[in-house]
Amino acid sequence: MSKTASSVWEECLSFIQDNIKPQAYKTWFEPIKPVKLSGEALTIQVPSKFFYEWLEEHYIKLLRVALVKQLGEDAKLIYDVRMENNYSSNNQHTVKIPSSNRNPMVAQGVAFPIDVNKRELKNPFIIPGIQKVKIESQLNPNYNFENFIEGDSNRLARSASMAVSNKPGGTSFNPLLIYGGVGLGKTHLAHAIGVEIKDKYPDKIVLYISSEKFTQQYIDSVKGNSRNDFIHFYQMIDVLLIDDVQFLSGKTGTQDVFFHIFNHLHQNGKQVILTSDKAPVDMQDIEQRLLSRFKWGLSAELQAPDYETRVLILRNKLYRDGVEMPLEIVEYIAKNIKSNVRELEGVLISLIAQASFNRKEFTLALTKQIVDKFVKNTKREVSIEYIQKIVSHYFELDVATLQSKTRKRHIVQARQLAMYFAKRMTKASLASIGSQIGKRDHATVLHACKTVDNLTETDKQFRKYVDDITKKLTF
Ligand code: ADP
Ligand code: MG
Repeated sequence: MSKTASSVWEECLSFIQDNIKPQAYKTWFEPIKPVKLSGEALTIQVPSKFFYEWLEEHYIKLLRVALVKQLGEDAKLIYDVRMENNYSSNNQHTVKIPSSNRNPMVAQGVAFPIDVNKRELKNPFIIPGIQKVKIESQLNPNYNFENFIEGDSNRLARSASMAVSNKPGGTSFNPLLIYGGVGLGKTHLAHAIGVEIKDKYPDKIVLYISSEKFTQQYIDSVKGNSRNDFIHFYQMIDVLLIDDVQFLSGKTGTQDVFFHIFNHLHQNGKQVILTSDKAPVDMQDIEQRLLSRFKWGLSAELQAPDYETRVLILRNKLYRDGVEMPLEIVEYIAKNIKSNVRELEGVLISLIAQASFNRKEFTLALTKQIVDKFVKNTKREVSIEYIQKIVSHYFELDVATLQSKTRKRHIVQARQLAMYFAKRMTKASLASIGSQIGKRDHATVLHACKTVDNLTETDKQFRKYVDDITKKLTF
């Protein structure tokens, strides 16, 4: 039986598959199509220029062994670089002969890169130039370790971040997942890691990206038929910082592609740093296989800073801005703004702005005004009526049903949730809450609050209800 391009390539593949990791096989060999066999020369079609370079750099020996087995010592390999979205009328493409391997893969050493196809890899982060690829790291130099104040609340996350910066990819903190509530410094730490690595290892390719932007790029790449380029681009990176991965929840396509990129980077000893507003156990709608990867390294929590740390953060910021402020005022702010460093800074900025604008001194009265505004904005009082509306709507009931005497389980749960939120978000007494939610007594409300607390601890689905409704009530 005579050999064909397909039969030769198939034999090569089965040899290659036995010799490399499944992930690498899938990424680099599955997309290849055998196109032509003439004599000892096999032509294979690859989806991009980068792809061809990668094969050359990493797999040429393996390819050679495989090919020689099939076609003998004079085997030649020819790449046909064909962009998927370029099947235009005249079907242009680039033919290349492996440059680094002209000898002995290509007998006469005639390299003829007929570069008819001028389409280059397009990527927003690549700065065109003659040297080796340069990637804009997207780092903010103002977010560094020096101005990230250490406290009990962030000690673990901060030291793990520093360890990773000293030896990217070389610690067991891979991936490093930094998680915590809004405004607690996740983005700051992620940048600090990148900035430090760039400083210590200028040649490393570092990239900071938000999950939102990553998702958008991925969607664009699918639309533009450049999904492979997208993947290959990310697989080149040495240190990948992905911010707010909770944003990937429910986005299965993006999760899938990220899974492959992650595996590739991890297998090759590259460092991955993730941030999230939730611990992995609490992440919703993220594929199990991805979650399990997130847990491979270290998950470090950023907690709300304690009072001393809050004072230090404020004083440090004032010092850097060259502003002097009475300690009494700094302490007042630190005492009243507790759960969010961004707000802490926000109060300071408003205060400085107001005082300089009105040529006023920093006074406690002015500070109180501003702090009040911040506290009010975040803890907008909601009415019990509004809570019942939101909860009913969430469970697709009407308010009358929620208030009715029925003992149907899901209605009882909805009612208990309404009571729980009324207790948590208003100043109303138990008795008053009871009378407004279907004329119940205070003991019933108390029982409802306890039940919700218990269920939140033990029942994942129930916790999701609480989280969802909290979001609806606070935005
Ligand atoms: P997150 O990403 O967790 O929402 P950010 O990293 O954006 O929070 O932090 C919010 C603001 O608080 C930023 O301006 C950041 O510099 C500041 N910040 C947070 N934690 C600290 C800290 N420990 N020391 C100094 N500044 C901090
Ligand atoms: Mg952030």
